[in-house]
Amino acid sequence: MNESALTKFIRYAMIDTQSSEDSQTYPSTAKQFDLLKLLVQELRTLGLKDVEIDQYGYVMATVPSNLPKTDKAYGKVPTIGFIAHVDTSPSTSGANVKPQVIESYKGGDIVLPGDNTVVLRVSENPELASNIGKTIVTTDGTTLLGADDKAGVSIIMSAVQKLMNTPSVLHGDLRVAFTPDEEIGAGTKHFDIKKFGAQFAYTVDGDTPGELNKETFSADLATITVHGRNIHPGSAKNIMVNSIRAMADIIVRMPKETAPETTEGYEPYIHPHHLVGEEAKTTLKILLRDFETPGLSVLKKKLEAIIADVQPLHPKARIELSVLNQYRNMRDYMGNDPRVLDCMFEATRRSGLEPKWVPIRGGTDGSRLTEKGLPTPNIFTGGQNYHGKTEWLSVYGMEKSVETLVNLAQVWADKCRS
Ligand SMILES: [Zn+2]
Repeated sequence: MNESALTKFIRYAMIDTQSSEDSQTYPSTAKQFDLLKLLVQELRTLGLKDVEIDQYGYVMATVPSNLPKTDKAYGKVPTIGFIAHVDTSPSTSGANVKPQVIESYKGGDIVLPGDNTVVLRVSENPELASNIGKTIVTTDGTTLLGADDKAGVSIIMSAVQKLMNTPSVLHGDLRVAFTPDEEIGAGTKHFDIKKFGAQFAYTVDGDTPGELNKETFSADLATITVHGRNIHPGSAKNIMVNSIRAMADIIVRMPKETAPETTEGYEPYIHPHHLVGEEAKTTLKILLRDFETPGLSVLKKKLEAIIADVQPLHPKARIELSVLNQYRNMRDYMGNDPRVLDCMFEATRRSGLEPKWVPIRGGTDGSRLTEKGLPTPNIFTGGQNYHGKTEWLSVYGMEKSVETLVNLAQVWADKCRS
């Protein structure tokens, strides 16, 4: 009954739960049910209430409030939710994951045993230095690890185990959710906020210990389509309109100083990331990212200016631009109850860490949930290098995150006593 977060993590990491972008079903892959259904069983064994899985794979459960009627906080603590996703990224295989547990890490680069060309380098992983003498988990070099977000799943399972087994820790109602398909941007597609019933929630899907996230990018997806005209090259003179050449002129004008590879922190970017084309038609997908939502229209104007510049060079080509809203900075929808952020900050401090707000140069499921009315900032897990073969996990970070969730349940009750 007192299984460690590490043991849970290794069990979950060995279950293949990769999601897929090329699927018409929900969840995108049936194998995600392998872990989701196991979690249902384990939540029931731990004694949680209302343990349910729906047709989409969403698992929800309740840790009921244990506040006695005499407690000043009784009946006053809002319902708080903890959320993690079970799927792993489509970008690297998640089959036959063989977690390598390195106890008392001695420092230095780590050559992974399954493929000696895959090396965890100290120079690329500043967090390794803070884990000397501690336990870390790596892959064998042939797959991803899935700490994103099975570390989050293990952390929530360990925290609820602790809460169920420790009646002296007083807290209000807590809701837990495990979700599929986060990695393909569909994690909240069928998430029933009303049924979940939390007033505030936390995703456990971050990385470095102590780092907390209340800001994400605002994101649009731009698509530029160039329509040309194809004809046999042998008789193409003055007839062919090669859309590839026009697109090349567009791409070369994309600002290099506003790219993901040249920016950091709060800097915005324009990122051409997917290109398909032939003479008759070429399509380019471009990610527009800015922490300030109005900044997205500035980025769009830059694309319009590029198109206006290129169009006269290819008068017979037709160039179209369309822009789709992807997600918005959660900061703009966090609401005006300061407790949601104050409590997580205080809970992290009570775990002995120095809490730090870090903007996420991406989105989380919390971005969409927050926009839909459920304020959902994000908490660290101890994982690093997501989506690749050099992914690794700090067990210390994972344990601190478990502590932080348990503290968070108590801090909320404390806040409601004053
Ligand atoms: Zn994740």
